[in-house]
Amino acid sequence: MGKLTGTQVQELHRDHVLQSWGKAGQMAIPVAKAEGIYLYDYEGNKYADMSSLLVCTNLGHDNKEIVAALKEQADWMSFMAPSYATEAKSVLAKKLVDLAGPSFRRVFFTNSGAESNENAIKMARMVTGRTKIFSCYRSYHGATLGASNASGDARRFAAELGGANGFVKFMNPHMYQDGYTRGVDDEVCTNNYLKALEQQIRYEGPNQIAAILMESIVGANGVILPPEGYMEGVRALCDKYGILLIMDEVMAGFYRTGTAFGWQHFDLVPDMITFAKGVTNAYVPLGGVIVNEQISSYFEENVLQCGLTYSGHTLACAVGNACVDYYEAHNIGAHVVEMEAILKDFMETMVEKHACVGEARCIGLFSAFEMVKDKENRVSLVDYNEPNTAMPAIMNQLKEKGFIAFNRDNYVSICPPLTITKEELAEYLPIVDEVFTWVD
Ligand code: PLP
Repeated sequence: MGKLTGTQVQELHRDHVLQSWGKAGQMAIPVAKAEGIYLYDYEGNKYADMSSLLVCTNLGHDNKEIVAALKEQADWMSFMAPSYATEAKSVLAKKLVDLAGPSFRRVFFTNSGAESNENAIKMARMVTGRTKIFSCYRSYHGATLGASNASGDARRFAAELGGANGFVKFMNPHMYQDGYTRGVDDEVCTNNYLKALEQQIRYEGPNQIAAILMESIVGANGVILPPEGYMEGVRALCDKYGILLIMDEVMAGFYRTGTAFGWQHFDLVPDMITFAKGVTNAYVPLGGVIVNEQISSYFEENVLQCGLTYSGHTLACAVGNACVDYYEAHNIGAHVVEMEAILKDFMETMVEKHACVGEARCIGLFSAFEMVKDKENRVSLVDYNEPNTAMPAIMNQLKEKGFIAFNRDNYVSICPPLTITKEELAEYLPIVDEVFTWVD
């Protein structure tokens, strides 16, 4: 344990840390311990972490098998530069390629999701000789300059000020917000969106478009499940116009949705996969880009103009190996599917019961409630880009009752560690019901 009191930790944070996506000078929960699905503050208050923090600690907190792998590697060798081969890096690259499937061949390692997308964008431009990158409005790809410009939600605005060339946005479907009925209107919704995308591709000049970058399942913008056939249609457009498809699996990857990667729910294979978060259970920073045979062979003939001092960091790769082994040895995918049934059931009950819940979406342990103020007309509880006080109040109510959820805009997102048990779900989900009753 540390040497300071909780208050001292909070005050130092308040006075000296610039807070991500927040104003400096705020008091944050001082976390003294994290274990399983729980966080504990310095006073011993216990919170169920139903967010996996930023949807990244897929295997829970203080997972001893993973910590042991980190310690073992640190005792042997902590760091080697990217141009050297290490057992940890070579073995992890092979495991990731195997996890992605037979079309894939090599991995470029990074330290975060944003860096993974940055480097995938650079590679797509090098391989195709084209510059434009298409990405969705309803998306988030990271906060570095390029990844921010590729992101669609309002967090891109600060990065757009100075500009970065070649980023084009297209609108991706959100069946609920667009007024469609899931299971009834999928075909018409898919056709409308694909038609609009194809027109945009034509107007932007297909031979200038290097790649379409998309999340397989849009995460931070509300776990948006695409209509049937949409993702396959985007793949078909990529094939038609010689555009590469980069699938951002930073949040949806590593069994969050029940399969190793989110795109495996669709009948398609991307050209590149970007990943981070769950690969190391977030214990140490690691991300990367898994590339297919074609891209891989291009870089046998041409120099890869990408580099990071910490690419393939030895400690991070050792943790990555331990995590991939853990997912497989503990059959996490099958466990997620079992827990999904319980979570889905609960969410459907909440839609029926509460006026404030418009829709519930759930795939694996990746889920979101769409909060509304007028259910009949599907009017969101918050106006996009307007000051949002309703949602912080809901999140605060949940937190006061020991339940930490993930949130953005008008979504309450439940994304617990994938190791959560049915007993833990049964104990904590009723808190959501209580808080929604208070909102109603
Ligand atoms: N891509 C997706 C889909 C994400 O959800 C995130 C972060 O939440 C990122 C990229 C950026 O990852 P990082 O914060 O590690 O840069």
